[in-house]
Amino acid sequence: MQYKDIPRVPLGFFPTPLIELTKLSEKLGGPRIFMKRDDNTGLALGGNKTRKLEFILADALAQGADTIITAGAAQSNHCRQTAAAAASLGLECHLVLGGEEPEQFDGNLLLDKIFGCNIHWAGKNRKGEDIPLLVEQLKKQGKKPYIVPYGGSNELGALAFVEALKELETQSQNIKTTFTHIVFASSSGGTHAGLMLGKKILKLPSKIVGINIDKGESDKVPFNQHILSLADSTAKLIDEEHRFSDTDLCLNSDYVGEGYGIIGTLENEAISLTAQTEGILLDPVYTGRAMGGLIDMIRSGEIKKTDNVLFWHTGGAPALFAYSDSLHFTS
Ligand SMILES: *Cc1c(COP(=O)(O)O)cnc(C)c1O
Repeated sequence: MQYKDIPRVPLGFFPTPLIELTKLSEKLGGPRIFMKRDDNTGLALGGNKTRKLEFILADALAQGADTIITAGAAQSNHCRQTAAAAASLGLECHLVLGGEEPEQFDGNLLLDKIFGCNIHWAGKNRKGEDIPLLVEQLKKQGKKPYIVPYGGSNELGALAFVEALKELETQSQNIKTTFTHIVFASSSGGTHAGLMLGKKILKLPSKIVGINIDKGESDKVPFNQHILSLADSTAKLIDEEHRFSDTDLCLNSDYVGEGYGIIGTLENEAISLTAQTEGILLDPVYTGRAMGGLIDMIRSGEIKKTDNVLFWHTGGAPALFAYSDSLHFTS
């Protein structure tokens, strides 16, 4: 299929801004650091899932779905953006969330409730393991359910990040800058696969550096293989010849710490430093960890002063409110 023939439903505001973080760079004595502001995609406090949902929910509408199902952690940004998008399209929304129902609703979970979606608690199954059962129940009720995969990471979700890289490329040409590195939080793989494919299509020199967020102990397919096969199948979807192997992939797993959603010194320092130098909010689970990784790579010399780095801000700040117990304030 030709890329332009794939339907898309508008949900966000694009292009998102591209800015330079001069004060953070000065503070680190580091390279020029730019930031792509996908925390400002506009849908219900923003984030990278808005891009993916424009393609995925267009497919749901094309298939005549009336009910959307997705899964994630209790503080999933993906679920919150899906809930908002479903509401705006007049679709019923069901979220299958990891953990048990808490006494108080906070952060993203509070927003899920405000968007009126149905929440199903799934204990340790935060990656959609319980969805097939729910699909059967909803079908019996005469509904036409559509499953949005975990993190919106299928070919359509990845395709959104091919498009996003084109958007960035136009902006970087306008400021006559070529990025040596594009650094971002990588967790369900759609962002990563899309940027890798976009790099090949656009023939960009930038190194695509995903900071791994999730130890992925329970995953059936190792995360690196998942990203590579998603990049392959996304290329096939749009009739691109490119195929991917280990040498194409840069997935840095040095910063997973104690695992998904467990906040340590790395995230705390990155959140404080970015807030206090630039007035920009990162989130505890994803962008705090990814920025912590970037700061460490700058300090260790892995990223040099002469480099030009782009940090892709994928959103997530609504989760800050739910993590106040894990956050320390340094100044
Ligand atoms: C989902 C998410 C990511 C990771 O993107 P993937 O495409 O799932 O790898 C990064 N940052 C934030 C804030 C997210 O919500």
